[in-house]
This record gives sequence, structure tokens and C-alpha cells, in this order.
Amino acid sequence: MRSLETLTVHGLGQVAEPYRDIVPPIHLATTFERAADGSYPGGRLYARDGSPAYIEAEEVLRQLEGGTQALLFASGHAAATAVLQALDAGERVVAPHSMYWALRKWLLDRAEHGHIQLAFYDNADLDGLRAQLAAAPTRLLWIETPANPTWEVTDIRAAVALAREHGAMTVVDSTVATPVLCQPLALGADIVMHSATKYLNGHSDVVAGALATREDSPLWQRIRAMRNLGGGILGPFEAWLLLRGMRTLHLRVRAACANALRLATELEAHPAISQVLYPGLPSHPGHAVAAAQMSGGFGGMLSIRLKDGEAKARDVAARVQVFKRATSLGSVESLIEHRASVEGEGTRCPPDLLRLSVGIEPADDLLADLRQALAG
Ligand code: PLP
Repeated sequence: MRSLETLTVHGLGQVAEPYRDIVPPIHLATTFERAADGSYPGGRLYARDGSPAYIEAEEVLRQLEGGTQALLFASGHAAATAVLQALDAGERVVAPHSMYWALRKWLLDRAEHGHIQLAFYDNADLDGLRAQLAAAPTRLLWIETPANPTWEVTDIRAAVALAREHGAMTVVDSTVATPVLCQPLALGADIVMHSATKYLNGHSDVVAGALATREDSPLWQRIRAMRNLGGGILGPFEAWLLLRGMRTLHLRVRAACANALRLATELEAHPAISQVLYPGLPSHPGHAVAAAQMSGGFGGMLSIRLKDGEAKARDVAARVQVFKRATSLGSVESLIEHRASVEGEGTRCPPDLLRLSVGIEPADDLLADLRQALAG
């Protein structure tokens, strides 16, 4: 039995004939030949309903998440919106207050236009979630944990149990936790979602998304159909790059976790900082739940709040020299952003907050960079 680390390093470990390539070829074909009798001996009809370019990355993802099937999408957004488009008109979705802002925007837009009913819960508040689920029949519970940009933690097992009691399915956006640190399907979730743009690929050079399911279900079949009919498919080269990125997933995630914990711990004592938000810190309200449902680390994402407010936050971002000022997360290089101004109008993000995606550079370089920026 091969470990998941070996799985990611080798992919499926196949060698391609006739040259015995040890990395897989890229399947570029958009269409596949029919036999004279009209059948499809290659098992494929057209690339939009499932390109052979996806087979290996989807299988690695399926195994990483312990699911029965996995699907690649053109982006994390395409993966998430395929789930929502698979619902019937007017079905109810319960989503967390803190979540990736553009998905929240999409949910609000779909609700405003009458496609779904929508209600929100506080990420860590199980009583509040129970009340929301009891308020009206709900088809889907959305979880993001740890959640942007304050890294609130939802108890997946407990939330799934509540959703089941009320007949709802659960989808977990596990982009920040990665399959290295958390296994939502093993905790009972029905579907796990990733922006594969982030840790899975890990090099800021591919936009991609993925879903894995615990079991085949009518909803999963509708999602599969949505990828085909909605057309949000990944290109073959991006699928290949994603597979290449995943080869180092475990090393990158572990290095980012160690760096983030060190930065969070040291920055908590910094006089210019009012709060460090990182689930790995005992001071974080979600620490105990995170410790119970994540293993091997608490992720590479943390946020800091500045005592002197927004102007100071923007000033610190302006002064960094190792961190790159850019949005996104989960890559080898460290990124910093003034999150509220990225999210824009309607943001729930505090204006004094800087979001840090901690990469794999030596922690000393990152700390020195932040210290000089904070001193400015
Ligand atoms: N979910 C989370 C937690 C994210 O951070 C992002 C992107 O930042 C997304 C989903 C959307 O993914 P993508 O940008 O690949 O569409």
C-alpha cells in the first residue's frame, strides 16, 4: 500500500510507451475516433465531457481526499458554481458569514435573482447553524474552514451531523486546509471543494478547481453534467501542470505550516500588532477544533491586525521586500495583501487587517522582512 506522499510524488506511476516516459504525456485531443459500427473504442466522445488529460490528476485528488470520484474544473469558482448550478431552482443554501468573498458575492447574486434561497451562519456557532437549518428546508450546507480572512474554524463533523438531521448535503471548501491537513469526506462531508490554483498547484501559474465526492449521488451526477454543459473545463496543459505541482504538495504544505506557526507566534508579541489570527495559536477561538480535525499543521494562512489601523496596515504592505504584494494564496512565495481593499465595497474584512499567505522561504527571511516593514 503506497502512502499519499508517494502517490503525489509519482502520480499514478505509469510509464508511457513507446519511450517509457516517467512523466505522463499531455493529451491534447478534443475529439476521439468512432469505430465503423458507431461505438467509441477509446471510451471517449469529446473532450468537454471528460478529457484523458484529467485522468491522472483526478485520480490523485480522489485518493488524496478518500473519495469515490473527483472532477477537475477551470477554476475553484467553476467547481463551486457547478455545485450551486446543480441545485433545483429555489433550493435553500446555508453558507458561512466568513468565506471567500467572491463566492459569497456569487451566492448573494444567485439569491437576489431568485435562483436559490440563502441564509448565513456564524462559522463557529453550531447553535446558530442548528437554528438556521431548522428555519426552513435546506438542500446544501456550505462550509469553509479555516475561512477567509480571519481563519475561523467550523467543526466539520458536528456541522455535518446537523445538516444530516435536517436532510441537507454538505460541501466543504478545503482550499486552505489542503488534503494534507484535513479530510472532510472522512469527517462525513458529502463533497470537498478546492481552488486548485492555491496549494494543490502551488506555484501561482495555474488557475484550476476540483471537487471530490464521498459517494456517487444524483447531485454529483448533476454536477458532472454541469461541467460538461456549463463548459467550465480545464485545459490539458493546466491539468498537467497541476499534476506536476502536486508532486511536492506534502513538502510545500508542511514547510508553509511550520513557517506560519513561527511567524504567528513571534508576531503575537509585536508591539505594532493588535491581533494575530491563526488557528495554530492557542489564542485563536478555533484552535481546539482545528487541532482536533486537522493533523500535521494549521495551514500557511494567517492575518495580522495593526494597532494603528488601516493607514499603518497599508504602510506595512508598502514596505515589504520579500513578501510580494498580491492577492491569492498557497504558493511557494509569500504574499501579503490589504484584504479589505481587495474585496472592495460590502467587505466584512476589518480595514486594519493584512492577510499573509506564508510560503516556503526560510522563516528568518520572512520575519526580518515583516519586522523591518512594521518598524517603518
Ligand atoms: N475558495 C477559496 C478559499 C479561495 O481562496 C479561492 C480563491 O482565492 C476560491 C475558492 C476561488 O478559486 P479560484 O480563484 O481558483 O476560482
